[in-house]
Amino acid sequence: MNDTYDDQNIFAKILRGEIPCNKVHETEHSLAFADIAPKAPHHVLVIPKGPYVCYDHFARSATDAEIVDYTRAIGDVCAQLGVAQSEGGHGYRMISNAGPDGVQEVPHLHVHILAGRNIGPMVM
Ligand code: 5GP
Repeated sequence: MNDTYDDQNIFAKILRGEIPCNKVHETEHSLAFADIAPKAPHHVLVIPKGPYVCYDHFARSATDAEIVDYTRAIGDVCAQLGVAQSEGGHGYRMISNAGPDGVQEVPHLHVHILAGRNIGPMVM
């Protein structure tokens, strides 16, 4: 995979409203929704609305406004779920897979927020 964006990916379709999602949070540049196959009591995906394939593509191509919005949206989702470590919550795991070695399934940048139980050690 490179940074050529495929606008037929499933998250692009969610952003266009062509398929539904369970929305958790939305801002000008970001959308958060429940993962369809949750791996934890809370499993939320946070995506930028812009056409970015993965984190490095986003970090190197997005505007400052998009980056600030997306970063804040991730923190706001953690707070909304009641798991923000900085606000007395029990914490979470944040994962973003990229490319074939990262085993990224959907080629639109997404951060997984997994929470609501002890997520366990990182398994490699
Ligand atoms: P990746 O492996 O790319 O990091 O993760 C893709 C995630 O997208 C998976 O956890 C998968 O369950 C989730 N997913 C795939 N298709 C859909 C969908 O149509 N709706 C939602 N809400 N999540 C999806």
